[in-house]
Amino acid sequence: MTESLEGELHVSRCMAVCEHDMADFSELLPGIDIRENAPLSGYTTFKLGGPCRCLISCSAPDELIRTVGSLTTTGVKFVILGGGSNVLVSDAGYDGVVVRFVSDRLSIEREDHFFEVTACSPLDKLAEFTAREGISGLMSCTGIPGTVGGAIAGNAGAWGEQIADVLQSVTLMDETGAVREADASTLGFAYRRSDIQQSGETIISACFSSGNGDRAKQMEERARILKIRAEKHPDLSVDPCIGSIFRNIEPTSAAGRRQAAGWFLEEAGALDMRVGGARVFEKHANIVVKGEGCTAQDVRDLVEQMAHAVKDRFDLELKREVRYLGEFEGEEHRDDFF
Ligand SMILES: Cc1cc2nc3c(=O)[nH]c(=O)nc-3n(C[C@H](O)[C@H](O)[C@H](O)COP(=O)(O)OP(=O)(O)OC[C@H]3O[C@@H](n4cnc5c(N)ncnc54)[C@H](O)[C@@H]3O)c2cc1C
Repeated sequence: MTESLEGELHVSRCMAVCEHDMADFSELLPGIDIRENAPLSGYTTFKLGGPCRCLISCSAPDELIRTVGSLTTTGVKFVILGGGSNVLVSDAGYDGVVVRFVSDRLSIEREDHFFEVTACSPLDKLAEFTAREGISGLMSCTGIPGTVGGAIAGNAGAWGEQIADVLQSVTLMDETGAVREADASTLGFAYRRSDIQQSGETIISACFSSGNGDRAKQMEERARILKIRAEKHPDLSVDPCIGSIFRNIEPTSAAGRRQAAGWFLEEAGALDMRVGGARVFEKHANIVVKGEGCTAQDVRDLVEQMAHAVKDRFDLELKREVRYLGEFEGEEHRDDFF
């Protein structure tokens, strides 16, 4: 598609959302939680960001399929949000529809050596379930906030392991409302990325393979990981954040290892940096926390300052891991979602 066609498509879809009012959505989607001008600060772990025009919350696959189906047939563009633990929403918010796919329940079905999980399930509940049941492969997801869908979209993980390592297949809904099953090997998984981030498809559920692990050892390991996380990461109820801002640095040779962005940031003096109410977390130079009076623009400006410091000191371009939604002063692109 050419640039101008893409632009036209975007404008026509935006017009479609402007022409729709809340009554239309409520009629189209009876029984589904729909809110007008909902402040997105209430739905991200950073607790920052202005309102979206319309927030539709789904907590089960049938609700999601109905919602995405209705939006696509009426030509309304939307963004999908999970637990909001990897997204910075601008202070002006987002002038469009946001569909949240989040549940506080783990919904799982197990058959032989496979198990299927709905994408709205909390990731850490899945990690806990597998540890307790003696299923290996998902220990690295222990304590990571957000949903299974958000984790798959961004290939979340820790300590050199990532969720795609044990993923078999994903059930997706595309922008036309068609549902398909995709083998994990076709989804372009790499360090903290997948093709799903660009395709605009919505993850409905995921199928994992189950290896054998030792229950007692895994529960011990879980406790150990949670302890390390509590020591190194901010307590979200005191210091809201969205985890690591930048991706770690890819190795320059096949034999090399990924280097922590936090090390470069610390060496470049990031631990002393702050802009307005946003400050770098004192125990981890790759994390920004929300202080008093903090705005999303403060965070964006601090992130810029951190990246510049590393560029000046090491001639290294850090790449953002977190995604921006809405307009920010100084950002060329409207956001990272389209
Ligand atoms: C304290 C803290 C610690 C963290 N530690 C780690 C860590 O160790 N490792 C790590 O990888 N991350 C970490 N994170 C970041 C974050 O928790 C993960 O990236 C998480 O997997 C994001 O899931 P989410 O549901 O919150 O996604 P969101 O933040 O809601 O969304 C992120 C992206 O996924 C897309 N998405 C969400 N759901 C779906 C879906 N159903 N279908 C298609 N796309 C979808 C969104 O459109 C968006 O582009 C941390 C964050 C915090 C706050």
